[in-house]
Amino acid sequence: MHSYLFQLIDLITGFNLERNVKHVLSMDNWSRQQIEHYQKEKFELLKQHAAKSSFYKPYNQEELRNFPVLSKDTYTNELDKICTYFRKPYRIEFTSGSSGNPRKIVISKEMLLAKRTSHLKMLHWYGLKRENKEVYIGGISKSMLYQLYYIFKNKIFLSSYNITREKALQYIQIINRQKPEIIFGYPYALMVLLGYAEELNLQIYQPKLIYTGAENLYPEIALKIKKHFPESYFANEYWSTEANIGITCPHGRMHIDEDTIISEVINQDENGVGDLLITNLFSYDAPIIRYQLGDKVKLSEKECSCGRHTKIIETIQGRDIDYFILPDGRKIAFTENSIQIASLCENILAYQILHKSNTYETQFNYVKNVKNKLVNLEPLKNYFRNQLNISVTLNEVDYIETESSGKHKVFKTIS
Ligand SMILES: [Zn+2]
Repeated sequence: MHSYLFQLIDLITGFNLERNVKHVLSMDNWSRQQIEHYQKEKFELLKQHAAKSSFYKPYNQEELRNFPVLSKDTYTNELDKICTYFRKPYRIEFTSGSSGNPRKIVISKEMLLAKRTSHLKMLHWYGLKRENKEVYIGGISKSMLYQLYYIFKNKIFLSSYNITREKALQYIQIINRQKPEIIFGYPYALMVLLGYAEELNLQIYQPKLIYTGAENLYPEIALKIKKHFPESYFANEYWSTEANIGITCPHGRMHIDEDTIISEVINQDENGVGDLLITNLFSYDAPIIRYQLGDKVKLSEKECSCGRHTKIIETIQGRDIDYFILPDGRKIAFTENSIQIASLCENILAYQILHKSNTYETQFNYVKNVKNKLVNLEPLKNYFRNQLNISVTLNEVDYIETESSGKHKVFKTIS
């Protein structure tokens, strides 16, 4: 019954998901050569659209590698020139820039279709369907109408905004009562839930699939999720506003959505980690070509045992990487310290670091896990002093403030 409803929604919205997902799934059996041939064809099509913009017109005869690297700033400042104007842009989305100013991204209908298709592809990979029950933990509270739409789609929406202890317990109860086949969560929201579940010795219902997205997935959070859901598949949807980038396959590796993007890694260091550039093959309204996303990644040289020939991302070093600015002028990536810091956080459920780049003042706000148990703060203080040469103020708080989007930043640079 429900699957007809979904097909009806597709008909009304004009997104032919079923046909698209069949095509994208067939790619699972393609050779590397077939994938590259497909990408070449799609890029030619994108180029035809790009030629309608004054920004890209001069590159009409060029190959991809000769296109300029597009920074986020250039995209924002030159957006008027980048737009192709051959039709009305389908949608404008705003994303929070690293400086805190929202940035405008033009979304074509084809980009949105690619995203929805990618999501459906993931469900297929794990033997699931759209109509399976899902508990979705992320974002801010939706309007009543949206909530109803979710119910209609067999989804239960739970906000990730400022999750307190009471809220976490309520969420766990909902999950255990609803027994969803799928749980989605922003990584931080899941971590808080699991922390309270541990403290109270509560079991959480094991769905068939638990997947994350929207925020950086730090390795320590991924480990915690896997530990708590040993019977579930665990996947990560690596998306940004600009494109669906990759999905974890059932063999646990992140495959690039090569039906949607062409990926490149430039400025590689000795370990092969470099800046990820994406070309969204469907960005017809405002071409996203060799766009520097702000993430540092490493691609794998090995093929995945699942048999798919799409490229694999071995590591993602975070989105718009945050740095400690040290008094001696050095910049140290937070991601290089996150595991060590987490290992010193005994009885700490969650934390947030606020770092002032001009004065090096650093504040470490934390939420206790077991309320009536002490937290030993000395190892943390020592770590900051010895490893980073900065002193830190530690404050216990009831919950960590989320951003207005419901996302959580573990590290925040303030000026
Ligand atoms: Zn795989």
